[in-house]
Amino acid sequence: MKQKFLVAVSILLMVVAHVAGQSNNASISSNSFKVIPLGVKGGLDESNLSAYLVAASGNDQFICLDAGTIYKGLELAAQKKIFKSSNPSIIQQNNINSYFISHAHLDHTAGLIMNSPNDKAKNLYGLASVLDVFKKNYFTWSAWANFGTEGEAPILKKYSYQTLTPKLEIPIDKTGLFVTPFVLSHVNPYESTAFLVRNQDAYLLYLGDTGPDRVEQSTQLAQLWQTIAPLVIKNQLKAIFIEVSFDNSVSEKALFGHLTPNLLMEEMVKLNQLANGQLKNTQLYVTHIKPCDDCEIKIKAEIQAANQIGLKIFYPTQATLIELK
Ligand SMILES: [Zn+2]
Ligand SMILES: [Zn+2]
Repeated sequence: MKQKFLVAVSILLMVVAHVAGQSNNASISSNSFKVIPLGVKGGLDESNLSAYLVAASGNDQFICLDAGTIYKGLELAAQKKIFKSSNPSIIQQNNINSYFISHAHLDHTAGLIMNSPNDKAKNLYGLASVLDVFKKNYFTWSAWANFGTEGEAPILKKYSYQTLTPKLEIPIDKTGLFVTPFVLSHVNPYESTAFLVRNQDAYLLYLGDTGPDRVEQSTQLAQLWQTIAPLVIKNQLKAIFIEVSFDNSVSEKALFGHLTPNLLMEEMVKLNQLANGQLKNTQLYVTHIKPCDDCEIKIKAEIQAANQIGLKIFYPTQATLIELK
């Protein structure tokens, strides 16, 4: 009798362990992100400008956050066999589900515009102020061809303009992802956007170009930090992608809506305080460094020196897969 009881208990324990193991595995495989940077710099090198593919782990449908460089990034990713196809245009057509543009500056849009003839019909998401530039400046017959769904005739209807409402989360078809946009200040009153991407209960935050609140005379970053601090505390925010364009020697008057290492840390200290000192649990990826002699080395050293709160800092590389767990 005692033996039967022990057998029953051990079977029960095995079942419990098995179920626990499964739910653990499930949370690791489905509750995280893949990021493929197609371009990471903030200027000069037109083959490597801000563009980040993001997908839910286990899904091959990516959203593209900014689109400065598309073709070269996909070509390099294809060489590394990150995708099934080795043809950049086929990958763009089949694996990029939709585009989210933070603001319309050319270092965030040129790849999308140049490759539009080879792309398939898909959604182009942005704030009204961002989509207006496509409607009035880029997808016109004088600048290029009208691949949009509005504006100058003939209208080729390849990119369906989807106007985002700040702070309103929307589901993205076929990706398993949800996106919430937040307005950023990029030389007040010009707008840029941060995209908070959700996969189940995991989050990733990507910021387009932004100045610090103090220089921009804005509260946009303060509002964003208030919103995401609870996610940091609950360990749900896996990564922040944020810009540092210039080194500390650039004066605040000459920033044109960008961050330096010291200004990045000024903002991160505020977020870390709101997050009860838990920001070290979130990976910080520094984007959009503007190339100049030794700038990259200088900026990295300055960030390291300014990182008094022990943040985990990374630098994305073009066409190198980032797996966030
Ligand atoms: Zn930029
Ligand atoms: Zn910009």
